[in-house]
Amino acid sequence: MSASTRIPPIAQPFVSDRAKKTLDLVEEFVEKECVPAEATFSAQLGEGEQRWNTTPVVIEQLKEKAKKLGLWNMFLSKSHFTQGAGYTNLEYGLMAEILGKSKLGSEATNNAAPDTGNMEVLAKYGNEAQKQEWLAPLLEGKIRSAFLMTEPDVASSDATNIELNIRREGNEYVLNGSKWWSSGAGDPRCKVYLVMGKTDPSNADTYKQQSVVLVPAGLPGITVHRMLNVYGYDDAPHGHGHITFTNVRIPVSGMVLGEGRGFEIIQGRLGPGRIHHAMRTIGAAEKALEWLINRVNDDRKKTFGQPLSAHGVILEWIAKSRIEVDAARLIVLNAAIKIDQGDAKSALKQIAQAKVLVPQTALTIIDRAVQAYGAAGVCQDTPLAYLWAGIRTLRIADGPDEVHLQQLGRRENKSRRDAIAAKLKWQQQESDRLLIASGFKAKSHL
Ligand SMILES: Cc1cc2nc3c(=O)[nH]c(=O)nc-3n(C[C@H](O)[C@H](O)[C@H](O)COP(=O)(O)OP(=O)(O)OC[C@H]3O[C@@H](n4cnc5c(N)ncnc54)[C@H](O)[C@@H]3O)c2cc1C
Repeated sequence: MSASTRIPPIAQPFVSDRAKKTLDLVEEFVEKECVPAEATFSAQLGEGEQRWNTTPVVIEQLKEKAKKLGLWNMFLSKSHFTQGAGYTNLEYGLMAEILGKSKLGSEATNNAAPDTGNMEVLAKYGNEAQKQEWLAPLLEGKIRSAFLMTEPDVASSDATNIELNIRREGNEYVLNGSKWWSSGAGDPRCKVYLVMGKTDPSNADTYKQQSVVLVPAGLPGITVHRMLNVYGYDDAPHGHGHITFTNVRIPVSGMVLGEGRGFEIIQGRLGPGRIHHAMRTIGAAEKALEWLINRVNDDRKKTFGQPLSAHGVILEWIAKSRIEVDAARLIVLNAAIKIDQGDAKSALKQIAQAKVLVPQTALTIIDRAVQAYGAAGVCQDTPLAYLWAGIRTLRIADGPDEVHLQQLGRRENKSRRDAIAAKLKWQQQESDRLLIASGFKAKSHL
């Protein structure tokens, strides 16, 4: 059954024939080219320091193949950008699910974070010179980029806390401060950082203090201190950098959109990007379910005389996983449709629902698969341990669950409380009126 025939009925009316063909091509490319190439990628990356200055040949070969197949830059939706491959967010969402089944799929097709979000920023907010200098090579997959917001010394899930100082001096900005979890900064091809800092720390409006600037990697005063591990994985050559800026000078032409517009930019950046992450995560959950099914039918490894699939609890794991991943997918596709019908701002609620629900669901499914493998599930012999570590971070990265839940809860409460109170009051009064009209006594109410 090909990917296009598995599109949920609810989404089918929104998917063009062209997108269906591409979806099947993406599946073929990921399952037959990317997944088998993963071991070569790791081998070419090697050991030690070499991991941070090597670009495995196999990824560049995959990129060439993907370009020839027309599988390139599908993430830039046709209704909001002119530079992409001409698909909607929903159509790309379906493709992103498949890309999420291989750690090479997104990069091979130039749909990898954080470049995707950074390209969206440049396409949406950059001026012509900035687009020429940075967007063009990013769209071609010639360079990579990083987005630097989080800082080691402040609670960064509240972005008003960000402290890196951006001071104007004549025709230059001077940057001082620290960043960490700068994903992608380890890659030798990473040539530009999008840095969020404060140009006006004393502005009375705490949402107007911040700006985003473009900083070429490797400028004097930039020190990459170390790469942070994720549960022991170094994620080389991409990496997550801890970087300091000491009197780093950039020309004023590096300012994106204008001083004080940083919040606007980060809010614009994170909308569709969250849907991309969520759909890739659905793909990871599907992959975990495939590995689970493979293990429980392994006739070499029976317990108490039976394959694991003959034990009731295991079938229940499979059934629950099927239900959960299908339900989670609908939440994401719904958010993608909502963005397509308006914009990311009008879909904030749906995006937040997907951002919170999908990683939690995928983690549950991966955990069942790990359990089914026994000790093998926690080691390097299956993709499960790495999948779990990567997806666990999504409950923190791009804002922790609690922050999204707080905003969702606040919005749901505020938008509904008055109407609900008025409706319940009216229903009680109407109920009393009907009781009295029928000769009964009115009930007592809360
Ligand atoms: C693998 C990975 C990649 C990342 N990549 C990038 C990147 O490329 N660029 C970048 O800038 N950042 C990146 N980050 C950082 C990430 O965005 C931040 O870690 C995240 O925003 C949380 O900020 P913090 O770590 O400072 O946590 P803090 O702000 O210190 O929060 C700590 C905890 O407090 C709790 N909390 C916070 N607010 C509330 C609340 N309102 N109610 C209840 N509890 C709350 C949450 O449980 C939260 O996890 C990455 C992180 C990871 C793990």
